[in-house]
Amino acid sequence: MRVEARAAAGAGRDAAGYVGRFAPSPTGPLHEGSLVAALASWLDARAHGGRWLIRIEDVDRPRCPPGADAMVLSQLAQVGLLPDEPPVWQSTRGAAYQAALDRLVAAGWAYPCACSRKDIAAAIAARGGQRERHGELVYPGTCRHGLDGRPARAWRLRSTATVDGEVPLRIDWRDRRLGLQSQDLTTEVGDFVLLRADGLWAYQLAVVVDDGWQQVTDVVRGEDLADNTPRQIRLQQLLGLPTPHYLHTPLVLGDNGEKLSKQNGAQALDLADPLAALRRAGVRLGLPDRGATTVPDWLARAVDGWRERLCTR
Ligand code: GLU
Repeated sequence: MRVEARAAAGAGRDAAGYVGRFAPSPTGPLHEGSLVAALASWLDARAHGGRWLIRIEDVDRPRCPPGADAMVLSQLAQVGLLPDEPPVWQSTRGAAYQAALDRLVAAGWAYPCACSRKDIAAAIAARGGQRERHGELVYPGTCRHGLDGRPARAWRLRSTATVDGEVPLRIDWRDRRLGLQSQDLTTEVGDFVLLRADGLWAYQLAVVVDDGWQQVTDVVRGEDLADNTPRQIRLQQLLGLPTPHYLHTPLVLGDNGEKLSKQNGAQALDLADPLAALRRAGVRLGLPDRGATTVPDWLARAVDGWRERLCTR
């Protein structure tokens, strides 16, 4: 990792207040890439003397096969990554997401949207543009001022700087590894979905509500999620929640150069030898191999390695 080696400057100071989490979507067993993210968040929490939580992000129920959550928890336990509190399942948190949405609606920030994907593409084409980003169409704002009698399908958040204007909003933030980041939320992302047309809660809303509720101070997760951070910071601002520190870890790429993910067929983590799996994840994080022979010993030495080299917040 490219995090500067500034010895454990902040570690003692932050000891009391640190809360970290690993938040897997149980769409299948963990793969090598997810172990890297889990290990990084665990190490960072331990290096700061903080607490570490596991949150099962199963809001997208149709994508979560039965038993995958138990499998993920058992894989984490096999490599010694045990949470300090019982895990939380997002599928039990609907009332909290609804309360957050109600609050955003009452303040005028969230609005119902009647557009299908086809409607959105047509509206964009009519304006003479093709605005797409990571396969997602940037919503042109069709329903911002009302549904025009059409039935609501989803709920969206206004991405503009003010609740009733069109001034674009830029979000600047700092990642502990990637440094200063900036995104024009309005033009690059657009008004984004909070409650989907299929009635499922969107990841952006659920993650912000739960990080706030669990008082998470430090989000450590894979770099593929970095692009979501400005949306999450905006929701934190509008819901009156503090913004955590962020650290996005390097992605593990497959032989084809693509990010390892369940979608592109990444193999489940091989835990025949848990110590070897940890060693491989440690190499990805740039941790020195200090010759441990058991899982607890490896983890203890890895915390020292993390504290010495990667701990700066
Ligand atoms: N549930 C998300 C995933 O598995 C991660 C959410 C997060 O760490 O913010 O990709």
